[in-house]
Amino acid sequence: MAKILAVTNQKGGVGKTTTVVNLSASLALLGKKVLLVDLDPQGNATTGSGLSKGDLTHTIYQVLLRAVSPADAIHRSEVGRYDVLPANRSLAGAEVELVDADEREYRLKAALSTLYDIYDYVLIDCPPALNLLTLNGLTAAHKLLIPMQCEYYALEGLTDLLQTVRRVRSHLNPDIAIEGLLRTMLDPRSSLAQQVSAELERHFSGKIYQTAIPRNVRLAEAPSFGKPVMHYDASSKGAHAYLELGKELLTRFGDQVSRETTGSI
Ligand code: ATP
Ligand code: MG
Repeated sequence: MAKILAVTNQKGGVGKTTTVVNLSASLALLGKKVLLVDLDPQGNATTGSGLSKGDLTHTIYQVLLRAVSPADAIHRSEVGRYDVLPANRSLAGAEVELVDADEREYRLKAALSTLYDIYDYVLIDCPPALNLLTLNGLTAAHKLLIPMQCEYYALEGLTDLLQTVRRVRSHLNPDIAIEGLLRTMLDPRSSLAQQVSAELERHFSGKIYQTAIPRNVRLAEAPSFGKPVMHYDASSKGAHAYLELGKELLTRFGDQVSRETTGSI
């Protein structure tokens, strides 16, 4: 059965989308069947996977409104070798259109339940807000993966997020758990980053991924080519880091690499 992970942080620009795209590609390279769900009207995970937002007739928007079945809105990222439930601007309207709808927080969960047998992993890219779209993501997910930058305000943002998780657990999804915290855009020479890292270890030991994602310009460039970083510059530090993250995630789930990738991207 698919393991569903929401990649979330209410704070903007922490590397959620970069993580969803590159972790999806990494898990695909490790032999897993992956579905990326873009829940952000910005549609950056969609374009970063090589899909053109303008060409899409069926997206996650129609799925949430129950106008099309999930299977009809699934597209293939040929370059990334994973499937995508894409998003574009129209998704911004879903918030308003679903306001009086029945089971409005459970729409994504219901949609994904039809796909449990098809995928090994489903990764959900949440928008940087606590809105109905994010609540759909958190309700559908088994686990949360939280990217964060090691800066002073990151810890403050984390407190808000933990509060949200507690609320979601008591109202919408009793089983939700934090799978892990991922340090992104890390500059290992920065002493502030080291201090924040140490602080995180103190509060969340065991939850922090050993793999940290370094600041790497290739990660910022790859989306403009519509490619995950390992298909843009396989030898970059960013590509190595996200491949390592994929392996660490499999280990943490007690899962195994189904395909050896060394030297054969
Ligand atoms: P939002 O909250 O707006 O959805 P986000 O949390 O999804 O943002 P991203 O879009 O992944 O964050 O990243 C923000 C910016 O930082 C992007 O321009 C991205 O290319 C860049 N970026 C992300 N991770 C890295 C990294 N490790 N090294 C360099 N640049 C990065
Ligand atoms: Mg994003």
